[in-house]
Amino acid sequence: MTFINVGEWLERREQLTPDKVGLVDSETASKHRRLTYRMLNQRARSLAAVFQEEYAVQQGERVAILAQNAPEYLDAFFACALIGAILVPLNIRLTINELTTILIDCEPRLLLHDATFQQQSQTIATVLGLQSSHAPQLRALASFPGADAQLAERARPFQSQDGEEIALILYTSGTTGTPKGAMLSHRMLTWNAINTQISWGVRENDITPTFAPFFHAGGLNVLTTPLYHCGGTVVLLRNSTPEAILETIERERCTIVFAVPTVFQMMQHHKAFATSDLSSLRFCVTGGSSCPLPVIEGYAARGLVFRQGYGLTEVGVNCFSLAPKDALRKAGSVGQPVFHSRARIVDEEGHDVPTGREGELLLAGPHVCSGYWRRSEATAEARLDDWWRTGDLVHRDEEGYYYIVGRKKDMLISGGENVYLAEVEQVLARHPAIYEVAVIPRPDPKWGEVGLAVIVPREQAELTPEEIVAYCADKLARYKIPRIFMFTDALPRNAMGKVMKAQLRTQFVTEG
Ligand code: AMP
Repeated sequence: MTFINVGEWLERREQLTPDKVGLVDSETASKHRRLTYRMLNQRARSLAAVFQEEYAVQQGERVAILAQNAPEYLDAFFACALIGAILVPLNIRLTINELTTILIDCEPRLLLHDATFQQQSQTIATVLGLQSSHAPQLRALASFPGADAQLAERARPFQSQDGEEIALILYTSGTTGTPKGAMLSHRMLTWNAINTQISWGVRENDITPTFAPFFHAGGLNVLTTPLYHCGGTVVLLRNSTPEAILETIERERCTIVFAVPTVFQMMQHHKAFATSDLSSLRFCVTGGSSCPLPVIEGYAARGLVFRQGYGLTEVGVNCFSLAPKDALRKAGSVGQPVFHSRARIVDEEGHDVPTGREGELLLAGPHVCSGYWRRSEATAEARLDDWWRTGDLVHRDEEGYYYIVGRKKDMLISGGENVYLAEVEQVLARHPAIYEVAVIPRPDPKWGEVGLAVIVPREQAELTPEEIVAYCADKLARYKIPRIFMFTDALPRNAMGKVMKAQLRTQFVTEG
């Protein structure tokens, strides 16, 4: 069997609708470039030829990218997919230390960067040259070839056999504190697109603004890739202020908008919300964390309906869906599994729990990732036979609707970004004045959750929150640094010596 690789989607689209605009690039509030599917395909193919001819990039090799969202980012994604190379999008908020750790792990042949990250990329390449034998070559997005008909002709697409070849590696810090790369195959991306199309009713005439970062599955996979799959139009915003999003929806007559709850909330509270023309919207999609009811109600008052989604990088970002008709009736639910997805809820022993009882959500289907890059142990831990352990605690009601009630994994989500607490604790514990530390999530009206660090200082040590924040600055991305610091004499531990976070939560979150 030969499988249509993700890079070939653009070619199919060029055959079907060559002059249809696939991408609107809103570079500035007044300047918009419109790229047709013919142009998009040519751009990706031209870049693919550059990768093959100038850098001899082979199938299975990694190409990392450190850049803000731009059309060239998508060129890189489709060019890599076309030749079977693996794109590794890097979180631009990470520190140089965090980025270097990731690049040592995935050993990219190339590091693509935009002008903003040129300096950092050079530093990283130098550090990698000293620390490992794999220093990537650098290439600026500004020097991509664009659409060059002759070059495009010379690209040599790879033949996918069954879609199992990897297209993307997305890094998460994970519960152990060391970053691990989830491997997303061509098969997974294709089924994610199919699931989205069927379950959400995404169509060829849909138009969506894109502003979530492409280094996150939410930016690339929730609507961007599914929309290319079905031939819609993606409007790329360089500026993601509530004002810019509202203005874009009105100007481009967008039909679907996806954002994390924090962004919907910011839009709702912006003065332009009441006066913007949002009548083109068929529905809003939110996910990534649970959406407060007042947000759904506030949009309903303007005649706008919500589709709630749920997913994760490793199992696909569109695994569950709550249709607009159920948004208020089943408020708080993430809905039902999408069409080609199976779900189970199990207890600690892996036995299915009865309806209404809480347990861990397991998922299976063609949209599940291929495991973690060079981490067979972590992959084995995440799997239970053919099922993937999501680490989320859920229950299901009598009508088959699922509710996320908590997390088994030790993490918090702040403004849509995952923060793995073990990683933060490891950094804090290395501070010379800290004896021990535990970080717990604290609900926050703006960010959803923020980190609260409970610290036991060393004897005689004097410590201020400002000093700790300054200490973390070059070790942790800003969004990972706790916002609240509490000091205590000892952390509560169980008989095994494990910190009892539930007790800390009762003590510091409920009281605090
Ligand atoms: P990520 O891998 O960054 O997409 O994060 C996935 C995690 O975000 C999931 O495992 C959940 O813990 C959380 N999450 C995603 N969608 C929702 C939602 N609709 N409600 C609550 N939590 C969610």
